[in-house]
Amino acid sequence: MNTTLKTYTIREIVDGFIYNELEGKGLFGLSGKLLIQPEYQRNYIYADGRRDAAVIESILKGYPLGLLYFNNVDATHFEVLDGQQRITSIGRFTTRKFACKDRNGREQVFTSLPADMQTKIMDSKLLVYHCEGEESEIKDWFKTINIAGVPLNGQELLNAIYSGPFVTAAKAEFSNSQNANIRTWGFYVKGTALRQDFLATALDWVSKGNVAGYMSAHRTDNNITEMKTYFDTVINWASGTFDDGEKEMCGLEWGRLYETYHGQSYDHYKISAAVQKLYADPYVKNRRGIFEYVLGGETDTKLLEIRIFDEVTKQAVYKQQNGLCPLCELDPKSKGKAYKLTDMDADHVTAWSKGGVTAIANCQMLCKSHNRAKGNA
Ligand SMILES: [Zn+2]
Repeated sequence: MNTTLKTYTIREIVDGFIYNELEGKGLFGLSGKLLIQPEYQRNYIYADGRRDAAVIESILKGYPLGLLYFNNVDATHFEVLDGQQRITSIGRFTTRKFACKDRNGREQVFTSLPADMQTKIMDSKLLVYHCEGEESEIKDWFKTINIAGVPLNGQELLNAIYSGPFVTAAKAEFSNSQNANIRTWGFYVKGTALRQDFLATALDWVSKGNVAGYMSAHRTDNNITEMKTYFDTVINWASGTFDDGEKEMCGLEWGRLYETYHGQSYDHYKISAAVQKLYADPYVKNRRGIFEYVLGGETDTKLLEIRIFDEVTKQAVYKQQNGLCPLCELDPKSKGKAYKLTDMDADHVTAWSKGGVTAIANCQMLCKSHNRAKGNA
């Protein structure tokens, strides 16, 4: 990969700058010669009134903004390899998309700053490395850099590596913060469109966990029909099966749950009642497990992490039993055998799943082998 170092003024860089509000990205600079956000780039994530303002404050204080890297597509066309967030912040500021503090601490948009400050910004110099190399070389290199303190996350890297029509179409649907479906998706999937969390989840579900393989196989597809249909199917199944609104539903492995349970029919009314009852049960420690527990017919109590007996209760019951295991006592061969406390486990006399409570009156100490044999909580 060949590199050449060049200096540009901000005036040159932001000439012809356009910000696309809908897609949340900076488009062009250098009078149209510079593509600011090639498709393998992440979305613009600096628009938070903090990181974008910090870029402008750095310029006003005369601090260096760090190196920028452009890829030479041909003699007159470049695309930003590294520096997209900084360039977009500068472009958005000079086109009055956000305000910044002036010398007196007042919030000002670019055109209301004093003329000398406007000039200072426009005349500031940026150092740019122009890179030339094979696409694969450039992408490999891109994979190894961290952008301005915010490392690319796993999905952003995959988007870079498998860039093409499929990623472009997938981002238009799943990485678009204007998509009206995001509110519904947010009940089930954690994260944000801009950091690619919905796309990562959609890929994970449709590929059954083989995301890179799926992206590679579909790289040149012009549509995302299969992935979108599958994602919508999973979300619709989840929202049709459960009432939404419980925060523990967010981030569950809905793809796996769908695959395992979608063949069974469920009574939405009964399911909702069962979920509510478990939410109200103080012995259920793991609420995230409630949904799969109900789907599986309320048998696998391990999913719920039922509260166990505390040490004080265990010791008191151990004393009452004089170290004897009530089940050993039923067998003439083991009758009268006393155990150490550490060789016994607490057990619900009436199982939690049959309405037994986690209280001393429902506690018995069993030897380890009898407790294992008895099983479920
Ligand atoms: Zn025993």
